[in-house]
Amino acid sequence: MKVVKFGGSSVANAQQFQKVAHIVTSDEARKFVVVSAPGKRCKDDTKMTDLLITLAKKVMEDELYEGVLAQVVARYDEIVTDLHLSRDILDVISANLQQMIDTYRDQPERLLDALKASGEDNNAKLMAHYFRQLGYEAHYVNPKDAGIFVTDEPGNAQILPESYDQLARLNERSGILVIPGFFGYSRSGHIVTFPRGGSDITGSIVAAGVGAELYENFTDVDSIYCVNPSIVEHPCQLKELTYREMRELSYAGFSVFHDEALEPVYRRGIPVCVKNTNNPEAPGTMIVATRDHRERPVAGIASDTGFCSINVSKYLMNREIGFGRRLLQILEDEGISYEHTPSGIDNMSVILREEQLAGDIERRVLERIVKELRVDEVSIERDLALIMVVGEGMERSVGIAAKATAAFARANVNIEMINQGSSEVSMMFGVKADAVERAVRALYDVYF
Ligand code: ASP
Repeated sequence: MKVVKFGGSSVANAQQFQKVAHIVTSDEARKFVVVSAPGKRCKDDTKMTDLLITLAKKVMEDELYEGVLAQVVARYDEIVTDLHLSRDILDVISANLQQMIDTYRDQPERLLDALKASGEDNNAKLMAHYFRQLGYEAHYVNPKDAGIFVTDEPGNAQILPESYDQLARLNERSGILVIPGFFGYSRSGHIVTFPRGGSDITGSIVAAGVGAELYENFTDVDSIYCVNPSIVEHPCQLKELTYREMRELSYAGFSVFHDEALEPVYRRGIPVCVKNTNNPEAPGTMIVATRDHRERPVAGIASDTGFCSINVSKYLMNREIGFGRRLLQILEDEGISYEHTPSGIDNMSVILREEQLAGDIERRVLERIVKELRVDEVSIERDLALIMVVGEGMERSVGIAAKATAAFARANVNIEMINQGSSEVSMMFGVKADAVERAVRALYDVYF
């Protein structure tokens, strides 16, 4: 039994629905179908989710929202019309959206989550209709009925462990089951969404819950590439990656698969295959527990901008028990999460996403560091990019770091920071953001 998830571009219009139906019905094992909301139909199009966020904001700010609401319904109308589905469903969709607006008008977070979730919810209903019209037994399954229960953190839901037992019962049901991605229900019965791109998470949870033999994640590329194709033209396609490699790469900028989506399948050892809806014959990329990495120790290079580093130094810091904890406590008090903490004997840097220091936070953090830790110096270095070189084979290969540093030198890129986790599955380099593309190309040349 397989779980198949289709991303936004795979369900953006009627033509894409037809491709999805063909893919699902061409393999009997494809029983569980998880769908995103309609994505972009062309480059300048707006994703349904973004449209719904605009709608929610208009309602919250007491602005005229009817125009946006009409745009939302029009996107479903286009699909319904082109697939010759019964138009009744459009009335249901309109009434349902209006009801959400009326119910949650004074509860902004609930309104936002309910409207965001409706993007996938209505699309799943349409998809189930379409399968039935084609003559297949198919059912829309609401996440509450499926048993997807989550923490009550709007926009940032996390799955509750009891969900998995409930999901296992879906195996008893007949037909193709179409489940909307991106949201679950809190214990108190509220709709709560996962972080953006979270339909991948739903697919993974369902795959884990039903004990799927494979989780197929359909998107719009033939495979995962070893490096961002907008930086390196026609980079190598990856046939296989391990869960750990994928996790590191998606954390550091590979957006093809949500970085939180791996956990449920990883725990149960369910393999994932990332495939192309527009070219389903292409084998795609398998994500598995182990791979033979003798030929290629480095699996991929990821990069992301928007980081900064808080650098502190204090003479004899290494002797001061609890220094690191107190520094990180200041960040915790401000609700700031950090990425890395490279350190020396008398200095420590904390790398974090720059946006977290917005407004007054930066001043408060710096003042507290000076006052409470009595440091000799503290500074913030901005406009940093992180580059991750990722690969299971790096652990046993000599000279991987040497190749990187030589490549940086040749490309005239100054390394601001190096960090290698104890797992040796990745190596992190911090460089100035304006040098990142040059640096990534130089790395690509030496490793691939
Ligand atoms: N529609 C949601 C988003 O755009 C979730 C998803 O597509 O995975 O973030």
